[in-house]
Amino acid sequence: MYVLREVLEQAQKNGVAIGHFNIADLVLLKAVFAAAQDLNVPVLVGASEQERKFIGVRQIAALVRSLREQFDFPIFLNADHTHSLLEAEEAARAGFDAIVFDVSALPFEQNVRQTKEAVEALKTINPAILVEGELGDIGTGSEIHEEAPDLLKGLTSPVEAKQYVESTGIDILAPAVGNMHGMLKSMVQGETRKRLDIRRIAQIKSAARVLLTLHGGSGIDDEDLRKAIAAGINVVHINTELRVAWRHGLEDALAKQPDEVVPYKILPFAVESVKQVVRSRMRLFNGIGNP
Ligand SMILES: [Zn+2]
Repeated sequence: MYVLREVLEQAQKNGVAIGHFNIADLVLLKAVFAAAQDLNVPVLVGASEQERKFIGVRQIAALVRSLREQFDFPIFLNADHTHSLLEAEEAARAGFDAIVFDVSALPFEQNVRQTKEAVEALKTINPAILVEGELGDIGTGSEIHEEAPDLLKGLTSPVEAKQYVESTGIDILAPAVGNMHGMLKSMVQGETRKRLDIRRIAQIKSAARVLLTLHGGSGIDDEDLRKAIAAGINVVHINTELRVAWRHGLEDALAKQPDEVVPYKILPFAVESVKQVVRSRMRLFNGIGNP
């Protein structure tokens, strides 16, 4: 049986990153799993509080576990951006492999205290669970935003990162290094890209010596992503790009078959559309060249 910590440590040794893809329905899960199987790479499935509310906390845990067991495949489940201990504990009990405990909106001292409490409580439920803490400001909402936030104000400092990791006992750190959640319209259209502070990533890695996650991966410049992984990023989150592909796939299916009502004849278009995006991101994160 696969263990997430070992898979992440192996990825770190190999100089590659694991893709984390958010899902809110079976279309997205099928697309993510099919892409991972095609490329034979480990994968993290993410579900934020709202995504979990839609699909069901125990239901998503059962679905992902069934794939891991039936196909003997390294697919894992992460409770993305969980803002309360109650919901974090619910996910831990349901069998999630990792939890992002996110109280990054609080001042540093409170973030440290609450995250430390969460680490202790969650490891009591499942000693193997990985807990991720977040430090800095990477915005909210994996959606299309009208305006770019001022990212420079919330960047994570390497000194605070080290102190945060040591005081909380987290397994994974999500820093703010120029990344942000969601995309601007110009990014969806491919006219602009997000750029990362690669030097800061390297400084945080050498100071904090912990696994690092990059949130808000949608719309980041490809070359910056390669450099970020080389500088110490172990997991990259993609959500908005998948949501855009999901919608385009669905619109395409409805336009091509205006009278169709059978879900399993309509939804495969959305699966295929999302799968293309996941595959191309997985290739990049895992250093797999184009065929
Ligand atoms: Zn995130």
